[in-house]
Amino acid sequence: METCPQCAAGLVAPGGGPPWCPACEWNLDAYDERRVPQLGWRVLDRRAHRLAYRLTMDPSRAGGRARWLLLAASVLLLAVIAGIAGLGAWIVYTTWLSFATVIGVLLLLLGYVLRPRLGRLDPDADRLAPQNAPALFALLRRVADATGVPMPDVVLVDSRLNASASAVGLRRTKVLTIGLPLWAVLTPQERVALLGHELGHFVNGDVRRGPLTGVATRTLGELSLMFRPAAPSGGSLLMMAADLLARAVLRVAHSGTVAAYVLLVWLSMRDSRHAEYLADDLAVRAAGTEAAVSFFDLLARSETLDMYVRRDARAGLSPAAARASVAALRTADPVVRQRSIREEVSMFASHPPSGLRARRIAQLPPAAPAVLLTDADDIAIDAELDKRYASARREIAIGG
Ligand SMILES: [Zn+2]
Ligand SMILES: [Zn+2]
Repeated sequence: METCPQCAAGLVAPGGGPPWCPACEWNLDAYDERRVPQLGWRVLDRRAHRLAYRLTMDPSRAGGRARWLLLAASVLLLAVIAGIAGLGAWIVYTTWLSFATVIGVLLLLLGYVLRPRLGRLDPDADRLAPQNAPALFALLRRVADATGVPMPDVVLVDSRLNASASAVGLRRTKVLTIGLPLWAVLTPQERVALLGHELGHFVNGDVRRGPLTGVATRTLGELSLMFRPAAPSGGSLLMMAADLLARAVLRVAHSGTVAAYVLLVWLSMRDSRHAEYLADDLAVRAAGTEAAVSFFDLLARSETLDMYVRRDARAGLSPAAARASVAALRTADPVVRQRSIREEVSMFASHPPSGLRARRIAQLPPAAPAVLLTDADDIAIDAELDKRYASARREIAIGG
């Protein structure tokens, strides 16, 4: 067995890739070449990973300068977009029906393409009404009261192994989305921990979700996806030439938006990680240390969890049976936590690695739960969601 050059402990590599030292974490920051490239160039990806690792592991808070730069960059971006549209409108107005009008119209179109993305409610999303899920809404209310955060305006459920909180639209409607496959396997107190964290997003001041900075970041993220050059198409010579030109323009637009996006993400990374920790603290306050730690230890094994959940969905297991089936996945294991750090550190990750979150809150002074979810209330919540569980199971069973 290879030993650590720093402390002579045996190295480990449970998921393959470069081994690290479980005792002093030597080489835990190594870049795993099997990762899916994010930026297109390995060398950039490697650098971004190193930077992300350093920012993720460094406990200090963001300085005011990064926050101001982020705000300034966001305002500049939104002002440029407004400027393009404004200039277009002005040209159209002053040169009506002349050749220059075409330029104005093109600028207006460009302004439309670049328009700020505020996020919106998916009209097809499955929205829970309080009268149809009184036990769940009562729990939400208790968690909100115990942690001093506002209630969500809209509660959605979907069939992802995840949960999220966001603010959308001009009025910044607060949306909580609960992924039923995840919700189903959580113990009552873990459910409280999940809600504590998600509702925490409505107050933790995360710059990636702030009105100006969040809109700028989201807009760049969506634009960089939109401008991603597609594979070349065949056709006539003229078509191919047009295709080539279009793809060259797209490539420039793509690189530009990716670069600007990376800049914003990098500026916001420390602050956003800090906001996640604040939300985790609210999860601890609501659910107590023990349940919050086991919740994050479960998430630290997300790959195995995903496999179990799909298998159990195909077998049609009820929430109670599915919960029992994943019980072994919540035990605390330092190497599992390190593996999650190795695999989840990323500039573009929305959250710090789950293993790191479990470790951080396990080291805080232990807290008792402020909200206790009784078995009876927990069963009432499952009964309210019964039909939706069944369709979520069908959906992920098909999903592979
Ligand atoms: Zn070592
Ligand atoms: Zn979060």
